[in-house]
Amino acid sequence: MILVDRARVVPPQRLLQQAANATRELQQAYDRGEFRERRITFDRRIYIDFKPYLEDLFRGKCAFCESDLQAGGWGDVEHFRPKGQATSVDGKVDVDHYFWLAYDWNNLYLSCQLCNMSRGKSGSFPVIGNRSRLPAEETALLLDPCRDQPERHLVFRGDGRVEPRQLSEELLNRYAGLHPGEVTIRLFNLNRRALVTRRREKAEWVVAEVRLLLMTGPEKIRELLSDDTGEFVALQRDIIREQAKHLIREVGQPGTFERATVVVPVSIPCEPIGITRVQINNFRAIEHVDVEFQKPWKVFLGENATGKSSILQAIAFALMGEEYLARHNRNGRSHRLRALLCDWTWRL
Ligand SMILES: [Zn+2]
Repeated sequence: MILVDRARVVPPQRLLQQAANATRELQQAYDRGEFRERRITFDRRIYIDFKPYLEDLFRGKCAFCESDLQAGGWGDVEHFRPKGQATSVDGKVDVDHYFWLAYDWNNLYLSCQLCNMSRGKSGSFPVIGNRSRLPAEETALLLDPCRDQPERHLVFRGDGRVEPRQLSEELLNRYAGLHPGEVTIRLFNLNRRALVTRRREKAEWVVAEVRLLLMTGPEKIRELLSDDTGEFVALQRDIIREQAKHLIREVGQPGTFERATVVVPVSIPCEPIGITRVQINNFRAIEHVDVEFQKPWKVFLGENATGKSSILQAIAFALMGEEYLARHNRNGRSHRLRALLCDWTWRL
């Protein structure tokens, strides 16, 4: 599961208006008491009309397990908040929740049948505290790929399994000691056997690919990290971070040639990236420097002639990459500098 920017796809106004009209009529019928004696009935055609736009938004993948639906199934239009019978972790059922979101574009997701069915017909949707009419006023325990940052809650391993990521004290307090990652894995059954097997195969491919790409510099790794089109992108990103961390130890040893290693946290695309560590060996007047930054920084202070400019120049060279330096090396010096990606500072 990855964060998906819902604003990337906007359905036609005609469909949004049709959905708004149907919601209003449903609410009026409910207010008149028409559903006291019988279950609320929905017009499936209205939310099914959104399906092509959901396929575009979620790149043809299940929003929850990231399986490719174009290759292996039609995919369901899933109501993240169920149309009715919303069930809590303790089994309590709220019959009417959330009928008013049945046609709401923001409540619709593309899902494989296994993720959809694993939640069961009971429509599990646990929340902390009371339910609300407005999603923004609820603390949901299921991770929402369009609102939450799933990478903060889930970690994918090389063996294909997914585990809850360790949460900060602040987040745990927000969820009353429960872990949304654990609840999400359980309710969507994200460790089902066939899924784990396919993720393990993808992990093996990513490991091989990263080792290959690291030889050509960090740019290709960044491209792979930004790619959200294939299956199991969340796993791909976690494996890249893990591999880059592993390899940085291999090349980070002091060498006999000029080298600078700049460590930046591997982050999800669109998040600003800050340099968190700089290691320099045998560059200009610097024999060895290893600076770790505990917080994001913009200013670098130091006494005169202590090597500030050399450090900044080394960072610049390292971030340019070897290929760029080789092409623009006009002074005849060979700076064998590298920028590597690492998630040492990946934190919540
Ligand atoms: Zn799925």
